[in-house]
Amino acid sequence: MMKADKKLMLKCRECGEEYPPTVNYVCRECFGPLDVTYDYDSLRLRKDFFSNRPKNLWRYLELLPICDPSKIVDLGAGLTPLHKSDRLAKLLGLRDLFLKNDTVNPTFSFKDRPASVGVSKAIEFGIKTVGCASTGNLAAAVAAHAARAGLPSYVFIPADTEPNKVIQAQLYGANLVAVDGTYDEINRLCTQIAEIYSWGFVNINLRPYYVEGSKTLAYEVCEQLGWEPPDHVIVPTASGAMLCAISKGFKELRRVGLIEERGIKISAAQPEGCAPIVSAFRSNSSEIVPVERPQTIAKSLAIGDPGDGFYALKEVRESKGVAESATDEEIVNGIKLLAETEGIFTEPAGGVAVAVLKKLVDQGRIDADERVVCYITGNGLKASEAVSTFAPRLIRIKPELSSFLSRVGGMAA
Ligand SMILES: *Cc1c(COP(=O)(O)O)cnc(C)c1O
Ligand SMILES: [Zn+2]
Repeated sequence: MMKADKKLMLKCRECGEEYPPTVNYVCRECFGPLDVTYDYDSLRLRKDFFSNRPKNLWRYLELLPICDPSKIVDLGAGLTPLHKSDRLAKLLGLRDLFLKNDTVNPTFSFKDRPASVGVSKAIEFGIKTVGCASTGNLAAAVAAHAARAGLPSYVFIPADTEPNKVIQAQLYGANLVAVDGTYDEINRLCTQIAEIYSWGFVNINLRPYYVEGSKTLAYEVCEQLGWEPPDHVIVPTASGAMLCAISKGFKELRRVGLIEERGIKISAAQPEGCAPIVSAFRSNSSEIVPVERPQTIAKSLAIGDPGDGFYALKEVRESKGVAESATDEEIVNGIKLLAETEGIFTEPAGGVAVAVLKKLVDQGRIDADERVVCYITGNGLKASEAVSTFAPRLIRIKPELSSFLSRVGGMAA
């Protein structure tokens, strides 16, 4: 489909030093993080190019870090529905609200996007075993893509991860390692393991490539809106990697001329029990103070020491967005609200996004006329225990008409 002679580079986010695109993620000069850059000037992208591209994230191959398309591991991640909200929008008092429904990805979270790119890049590098440090969803995404490619995988999760996420990752055949510790401790452990094994940890030593997959959350929204970008997006945030990738995605679309030069506000949504980025935003500080023991039902967002927290905060401020949090109760209400008004069942991370969206509208920090996109990043069935006690009471009857009429019929009449 497309040429493979892509000019990729790795560039230090801090000092700008450039490196060839190898298995590398930190700058040797200043220890800053490395990002993939492309030869943007040589890219000739036009809006009408996209009509007959694959119906998944690989439709944006020119802006993804894979040089050999035969190495792509594809389960169909991406190009998820952008759902125009009617009932929720009306209830909140918004006129132009869209929901990016990433609950319907192959393993039911947005993590399939970066996992697909990370595992593909591992294969391009000739890496024989892949792995990750996960808060739950990445485990399944890496395990499934490794299964598809026939590679062994080692995925590390906190021991208290939701049961369905554990079962899912195991069934894909991953070597699942449950660690008695926080995500931050697991991340540190995996960094040490990556130093002595020649494994590709997608979100550690392959991180610059892996995060590129999440940029497609920005590309798709713009394309699905007819290349008319939104005014404001709400992003559920843990490490800050997805938020930074979405921001990079919008900047790249401007750079290659697919969208106009106009500001897009990017707001971060975090759970109250693990909101280090929100805390820094509120106190007008640029220093992220780690949360030692995250306490939240939004386990996929429980990262106390966010790797990209500083940069996510910077993107939020520079875009004129805000960072706001939601309590567990507000998260549950957000999940219910989304399910009842739009027919989308999300895990708590999506509940955080909806709850923060509601809060920002109520506080007048989102205007009724703004075109808003709210990212719904994971499926409710992956963490249904978070809301099972809040489900309405079941109506139980005998298989007889009289039982129906006495228990249900009366209510409907
Ligand atoms: C991982 C995850 C996030 C947050 O992603 P970061 O890049 O760590 O900020 C949001 N939602 C869901 C469902 C996730 O699994
Ligand atoms: Zn540097």
